[in-house]
Amino acid sequence: MYAEPIENLIKAFSKLPTVGPRTAERFVFYLLRSGKKDTAEITLALKNMIDEIKSCEVCWDFSNASPCTFCSDTKRNPKTICVVAQPQDRETVERTGEYTGQYHILRGTLKPGDEGIARFLKINELMNRIQKNKVDEIILALNPDLNGETTMMYLERQIKKLKPDIKVTRLARGLPMGSDLQYADEITLGSALKNRMSS
Ligand SMILES: [Zn+2]
Repeated sequence: MYAEPIENLIKAFSKLPTVGPRTAERFVFYLLRSGKKDTAEITLALKNMIDEIKSCEVCWDFSNASPCTFCSDTKRNPKTICVVAQPQDRETVERTGEYTGQYHILRGTLKPGDEGIARFLKINELMNRIQKNKVDEIILALNPDLNGETTMMYLERQIKKLKPDIKVTRLARGLPMGSDLQYADEITLGSALKNRMSS
């Protein structure tokens, strides 16, 4: 048993994804050894993130402004919306340099047989955007895995029900099945985007 402030920080770090109690322990003792300056830097960065970052109420990305820089950029095509699961996927698509439309971040995916959790994702918000704005194309850029597939099928049904004339497309095949968009290289993803198919 360590002193209480140490135990508390170990517990807090353990909540992070992929960090178990042993790694959390290593983080804490690293910080204790590295002195007050490094630790103050992390504390300040955390505080600034909490204070300054909010949700963009158009695309649901995390940003320091709402609408975010993407949503308020008039040079981007407002009639095409690329739907991604996570902010990191938006970043990956953006890095390809092949896309100049708008984005929508769902903040997660559905699991097969569990459409009930749809209400926790930003799906209603997407439907409202489609309802209120002139949208020509929705690109579904979700991971080529079971959850991504389930989510894309669900979204397709909802979009077609709401606006049957909207073109719904998907990334071209070429991304390995079960892979994670975030780790796709820019050239592969860029060409999957350019060669997207109607679904
Ligand atoms: Zn936005």
